[in-house]
Amino acid sequence: MRRRLMAQTQSPPAAPPRTRKIGMVSLGCPKALVDSERILTRLRADGYAMSGDYAGADVVLVNTCGFLDSAKEESLQAIGEAMAENGRVIVTGCMGNEADAIRARFPGVLAVTGAAQYEDVVDAVHAAAPPGLGPYFDLIPQSAPGDVKLTPRHYSYVKISEGCNHACAFCIIPQLRGDLVSRRIDAVLREAEKLVAAGTRELLIISQDTSAYGVDVRHEPRAWHGQPVRTHMTDLARELGGLRTPDGHVPWVRLHYVYPYPHVAAVIPLMAQGLLTPYLDIPFQHASPAVLRAMKRPANEAKVLERLREWRDICPDLAIRSSFVVGFPGETEDDFRYLLDWLDEAQLDRVGAFRFEPVAGAAANALPDPVPEAVKEERYARIMAHSAAISAAKLAAKVGRTVRVIIDEVGDPDEDGDIGASGRSQADAPEIDGAVHLRNVPDHLAPGDFVDVLVEDADAHDLFGVITRA
Ligand code: SF4
Repeated sequence: MRRRLMAQTQSPPAAPPRTRKIGMVSLGCPKALVDSERILTRLRADGYAMSGDYAGADVVLVNTCGFLDSAKEESLQAIGEAMAENGRVIVTGCMGNEADAIRARFPGVLAVTGAAQYEDVVDAVHAAAPPGLGPYFDLIPQSAPGDVKLTPRHYSYVKISEGCNHACAFCIIPQLRGDLVSRRIDAVLREAEKLVAAGTRELLIISQDTSAYGVDVRHEPRAWHGQPVRTHMTDLARELGGLRTPDGHVPWVRLHYVYPYPHVAAVIPLMAQGLLTPYLDIPFQHASPAVLRAMKRPANEAKVLERLREWRDICPDLAIRSSFVVGFPGETEDDFRYLLDWLDEAQLDRVGAFRFEPVAGAAANALPDPVPEAVKEERYARIMAHSAAISAAKLAAKVGRTVRVIIDEVGDPDEDGDIGASGRSQADAPEIDGAVHLRNVPDHLAPGDFVDVLVEDADAHDLFGVITRA
């Protein structure tokens, strides 16, 4: 998933004349979005304000994605646009490792820094546009004192670690971001608690490998509210499951980038008890043992099916999202059919697919038997159609049921005065999954509200319904 936005806070007040303003274009995955939020939070503490457009910015930060060649191209285009529209541009993020290529194409960029190099970005901004006023002078409305959020107020990404200890053949994230480094669990929990107290209704836990959280620090315990908690995914999930919003709701907590290791089973009962959102984002990437071996993936697909069955026995509403790569070097038609058959067994709720692209520096590039582009396209179309059919059947089975929904957007009244809205069920993460479209909603409905919805209809990706309890 790629996302692009200019940092925009809700109706910023008129800034004092000498306050410097920063524009931000953030590309890439939710992890990059969290980096952008951290950078902006730090800059705000240094007295900068945010600009919602190029024209009003003293300097524009472009947080790039360098994972795939297509993402790099999109990043280069974004840099080009920022150069053309503003001209004072600092580049950061995953593509920062390719400073020479960036400077060759855009010699006028002010600075290029790498992923997660927060201090360097901040230093570059200070050099390009020295802050005119002291810290905290320019107060911009936001969800929590001191934090700048790029996501809507009612949901927040929380990054628990950086880097990865695996060596998947198609991936250069360990080269870009280094080995796994886990954040202190007390710091993560404090951040989550503050976000929920400030109005966040949904926490999205992200990392490169959430199930490995704490491995680097041997799961060291830290004190949290007077009790020891281990730096471990299950302790984290348990503590997050104990949070309550100011009005007494259990906030939704989603775990992203989880590998199906045995210890993941420990969080499923929390989901069955309603303390953790029954949703797991597990990047399986393939199912054929031969392809998984070639990918150097840490998984065993037969045991995985068994585990999915066990988890669903404990928590029948568990929704599982995954992503897959098609056209990996050496993938045969039999491997691909194996994947489609495996999907029939696994009955995943949400599936994203990518055509394999060689990434500069990835081990997979040296593998023999590349799959021709036309075959990749054909397999991509087949897996998308296959997973859409599974999704359509699973969503059709929800028609007539009542599901809990969090509201994302409320529309304006139409000519008959009816108001529509859209939100998501517990099976839908923002930006990547489906939506629940609602008709005739009450006019007091607002983003972040939890409502019960009778599902009246479904298509391959979305649900349609009406509120039964607001
Ligand atoms: S688990 Fe594999 S794909 Fe994911 S970040 Fe680590 S190396 Fe890359």
